Amino acid sequence: MKFGGTSVADTDRILHVANIIKKKYDENNQIAVVVSAMAGVTNDLIQKSKKISDEFPNDEYDALVSSGEQVTSTLLAAALQKLGIKSRSWLGWQIPIVTEGNYKNSRIISVNSKILNESMSQGVVPIIPGFQGLSKDNRITTIGRGGSDASAVAIAKCLDADFCEIYTDVEGVYTTNPAIEPKAKKIEKISYEEMLEMATLGAKVMQSSSVQKAMINDVDIYVKSTFSNNSGTQITSEDKISYDKVITGVAYSSDDAKITLQGVKDKPGVASAIFKPLYENNIVVDMIVQNISSDNSKTDITFTIKRDDLSKTKKLIEQLKQNLDYDKFISDDKVSKVSIVGAGMITHPGVAYKMFNALASKKINIQVISTSEIKISVLVDEQNTKEAVQVIHQMFELDK
Ligand code: ASP
Ligand code: MG
Repeated sequence: MKFGGTSVADTDRILHVANIIKKKYDENNQIAVVVSAMAGVTNDLIQKSKKISDEFPNDEYDALVSSGEQVTSTLLAAALQKLGIKSRSWLGWQIPIVTEGNYKNSRIISVNSKILNESMSQGVVPIIPGFQGLSKDNRITTIGRGGSDASAVAIAKCLDADFCEIYTDVEGVYTTNPAIEPKAKKIEKISYEEMLEMATLGAKVMQSSSVQKAMINDVDIYVKSTFSNNSGTQITSEDKISYDKVITGVAYSSDDAKITLQGVKDKPGVASAIFKPLYENNIVVDMIVQNISSDNSKTDITFTIKRDDLSKTKKLIEQLKQNLDYDKFISDDKVSKVSIVGAGMITHPGVAYKMFNALASKKINIQVISTSEIKISVLVDEQNTKEAVQVIHQMFELDK
C-alpha cells in the first residue's frame, strides 16, 4: 500500500491512513507500506536549499529532500501502534534500497526483501519512505520527483506482492481530466501500455517511469482514493482486459513548443545535422514531420520540444546557420498536444477519421499529427485544448 503526499498531508490524515491499513491488516493480509512526504514538504525543502546556495551540492541535496519521507514514516508507524498494530519504520538505507545513477535521479536496482519479509511474518507492518535510496558508495540518493510510486512498485516486485495499491486524492484513472471534461468517467481497467501512453501524454495520476517499472515486472496496480471506499482503477496486462471501446482515454499536454525550419535542403544528412546538437544538449524531441519537397530541392521540417527548452533550442539552431542552409526559423510556444489512447484502435478502422472529424466539427486546425500503434496525437493551438478534448471525448462516447 502506497500513500501519496495529500493522503498524509497532516496528522489527522495520517491517523486516517492508519485506519485504512488496519482494515486490510485485520483481513489477514501481509502488508508493506510506502509513503510520500506530507504535501508541500519536498517543495519546501527544495526552497530552503535554494536559499542556502544556487549551487547546493547534489549529495547533500538528496539527503535533504529525502527527509520529508522519513517524517511521514515515523508518524504513520506510531499511528498504527496507537491502533494496536505492531509497526516500525525502515529508512531506505536501513533496508537497504540500493540505487545507481546520478543524485536527484537515481534508479532502484535492488531491495533487500529479507528484512521486510521477516518483519511481516512476525506481524510487524514495515513503513518505508518512498523516493529514497542508497548508492553503492553509501550515500543517500533520491529517484526523481514523484518517485515514491516507483519505490512502491519496486518494493512490490521484490516482495512478490499480489498487487500494489496506490492511494491518492482522486478515485482512479479517468477517461480524461475531469477538471476539463466533467463527463469524464473512471476507467475500471487499463493496460500498462495504455497507462504509460496516458501518463507520458499528460495524465497526472501516475508518474510514467513507475508504470514502466510495473509493466516490465508485471506488477498489478490499483489506483484508488484515500478518501472513499470506491474500487479505483486496475492497471494490468492487456490480456486481462476485454476491449469494448475503441479508445480508452484522451490526454493532453500544455507544455509543448513547435519549431519549423522552412526551406532546408532536401538531401541526406540534413535532419541528422539539425537533431545532433539537440541530442548533445539533452533536449527531448517529440513529434517530427518532414514535408515532401515539391521540386526535389527544398523541404520544411517541423518538430516539437518541451516549452522550457525553446530558447536553448533557438540558440542551437542559430549556431547551425554556418553549416546548414534554411530560409526561415519559426517557433510557436502556444501549442498543445491532444492525444487519444487505446488498445482497441488496433482492431477498429476509422479511428483517425473520427478524431479529425470531431476536431473539424469545431473548426479546430490540426498542425501536426503523430501516431503509434495505440495512440494518435495532434498538435493544436493552445487555446483550443479544452474544446478539442471535450469534442473528442464525446465523439468516442467515453461518457457512456
Ligand atoms: N516527495 C517526493 C516528491 O514530492 C516524492 C513523491 O512524493 O513521490 O517529489
Ligand atoms: Mg507526491
